Amino acid sequence: MVSEFRNEPFTDFTREENARAMRAAIEKVKSELGREYPLVIGGERIMTEKKLDSFNPARRTEVVGRFQKATEELARRAVETAYETFSIWRRTRPDERADLLFRVAALMRERKVEMSAWMIHEVGKTWAEADGDTAEAIDFCEFYGREMIRYAQPAPLTKVEGEDNRLEYIPLGVGVVIPPWNFPLAIMAGMTVASVVTGNTVVLKPSSDAPTIAYKFFELLEEAGMPPGVVNFMTGSGAEVGDTIVDHPKTRYVAFTGSKEVGLRIVERAAKVHEGQIWIKRVVAEMGGKDAIIVDADANLDDAATGVVQSAFGFQGQKCSACSRAIIHQDVYEPMIERIVERTAKINVGDPSEQSATMSAVINEKAFKTINDYIEKGKSGGGRVVAGSGSDGEQGFFIEPTIIADVKAGNTIEQEEIFGPVLAVIKAQNFNDALRIANDTEYGLTGAVYTTDPEKIERARREFHVGNLYINRKCTGALVGAHPFGGFNMSGTDSKAGARLPWPLHAG
Ligand code: NAD
Repeated sequence: MVSEFRNEPFTDFTREENARAMRAAIEKVKSELGREYPLVIGGERIMTEKKLDSFNPARRTEVVGRFQKATEELARRAVETAYETFSIWRRTRPDERADLLFRVAALMRERKVEMSAWMIHEVGKTWAEADGDTAEAIDFCEFYGREMIRYAQPAPLTKVEGEDNRLEYIPLGVGVVIPPWNFPLAIMAGMTVASVVTGNTVVLKPSSDAPTIAYKFFELLEEAGMPPGVVNFMTGSGAEVGDTIVDHPKTRYVAFTGSKEVGLRIVERAAKVHEGQIWIKRVVAEMGGKDAIIVDADANLDDAATGVVQSAFGFQGQKCSACSRAIIHQDVYEPMIERIVERTAKINVGDPSEQSATMSAVINEKAFKTINDYIEKGKSGGGRVVAGSGSDGEQGFFIEPTIIADVKAGNTIEQEEIFGPVLAVIKAQNFNDALRIANDTEYGLTGAVYTTDPEKIERARREFHVGNLYINRKCTGALVGAHPFGGFNMSGTDSKAGARLPWPLHAG
């Protein structure tokens, strides 16, 4: 009997022993920077001619890891190897597969600070953000392991005299897993272990901005006893080998999390049936957001300001759930801006290996440019910059937390996902107007409402069309099992990560 699922607690770094452990892990990781890592197909370690480097966003020339660039031929081999392994892996018992996940979770728990230290270097997460990412990855292993045990129970069926009927879940086949860089451990691990525990085999193609942490996780899978070929680790440019693994006739489904543009491309390509393909591919595509927090006139303004600032600037605003729009009732508009600016001024932008940094660099040069372009668009669209003294790309890709007030609904920075530390503040006439503005984008991922009025809370529940709606709290920080995660419209395919799906409801 496994125990009931509980979320992994976050580490309290105000305790000296925890801070000391993190500093030691950071030193260890620093001594291992710049190493080269192979592709792993069917357990075989493979080096290629062309290489791909991952860099520290806060120290732009510091190489975190050197990786192989898979060729199309190797990409095909990865899918074919996963397909061969599927014939064996599909026959393993669900509880054996769940046990593998529990062993991986235990290993990750032992090496928690080390895994976090890799993310601090590779994607610019602060201590707290990295710790949250590692905790979520542990949660996914513990949660999906338990879910597999539940799915393996007989489903309730109507009895028919003289018959013994069964309804069972069976594995699908080869899953191509394509994660983003922004939760480079949690989302990558979550999508991978969900596939593995359900008896599928995987081609894992991590983001080129975060391959090292993915490799460290892959090593844990091996150490925990995963047979060769169940997960095949394949780095390379998404644009170069992405199509090959998506198009392959032996690919059964694609699990993708990333931008709308790439997600839609995958959905379209996966719909085409290729020679030798005898199924319709499934795609789970979890994509971007343009998340809003509504602050009504009757809200607790201090709480609302804290929630807005945490949601807008945590991990530099690079969360799909980040608040990029604060929609504020006109009666409290200026006092709210004051409070938001006051809290933002306390953010300490710096090198995330320092415990004192509460925000750091954005992921890469391309993002640095795009985000700065959006700030310019915000200004030229009539926005008033009330916080944000600019950016500095010299040593790393640092952008100050930026707040643009008086943004008009419908403006570019109010509609498009920026994925950086930029908050647009929009004035609403009343609660109706605020809801209308909040819903008026192509996305529908997360949202929050601050109000003390039960009727407005009820209306928000019914009318604020987002996958994850929070009342009187920030719109980031979903917990596995507690806040099943996934959005509507262009935010995704309406699936939910970390959810107990309703079937089977009872043992038969
Ligand atoms: P991205 O779309 O640029 O890349 C995602 C992955 O796709 C990477 O591994 C990349 O290498 C790969 N890729 C690129 N081109 C490809 C192609 N042609 N074929 C196959 N794969 C290809 O996204 P990103 O910058 O890594 O992540 C940020 C985006 O992810 C944001 O839009 C964010 O909102 C979204 N996101 C969504 C969720 C969610 O749950 N909805 C969670 C996290 C991030």
